[in-house]
Amino acid sequence: MSDARSGKIVVVSHCILNVHSLEDGLAIYPGLEEDVVKILLERGVGIFQLPCPEMHIFGIFRKPLPKESYEHPTIRDKYRSIAEAIVEQLLWFKRKGYEIVAVLGAEASPTCGISRVGRWKDPVKKGKFPGDVIFVEGMGVFMEEFKNVLEENDIHPVWIGIPGKSLRSIDPDVFERTLDKLRSIL
Ligand code: SF4
Repeated sequence: MSDARSGKIVVVSHCILNVHSLEDGLAIYPGLEEDVVKILLERGVGIFQLPCPEMHIFGIFRKPLPKESYEHPTIRDKYRSIAEAIVEQLLWFKRKGYEIVAVLGAEASPTCGISRVGRWKDPVKKGKFPGDVIFVEGMGVFMEEFKNVLEENDIHPVWIGIPGKSLRSIDPDVFERTLDKLRSIL
């Protein structure tokens, strides 16, 4: 590099840098995910903030829902077109030789989860979030589309889901384990 830049970029879900896009009751920090951002600052990476995909569909007054609620072709198409526009920008960084090191999603989100998503315990009765939801292996609808478009363009970051309030309440160590993983790849 001809100046101080590290040439490394981490892509983050919108709410990691701005908790105000979250549904009511889910924010753990007043403004942003401080523990995650501290690591990114220490490691000297650029941070690329994704838009909040759910705000594109349901706006700001939406309620937390499991993945089934977002599993719809119209929503997939919309998310795919958002992902294509983002990857168009990321390709410029790639052309300049910078590395898209990681994507940090919001674990258990129906949209931005990386390896866990919520599902209704009873898909017929449904119910209320989070009491009637179980967390299962899977990726959020937007992240699936985003990953597809990145792979089509030969961009292969490490994928890490940052656990939020729901997951931390059922597994108190999951957040520290995730921070360790993040440190290990940067
Ligand atoms: S997890 Fe994704 S959809 Fe949910 S608030 Fe964060 S950026 Fe928006």
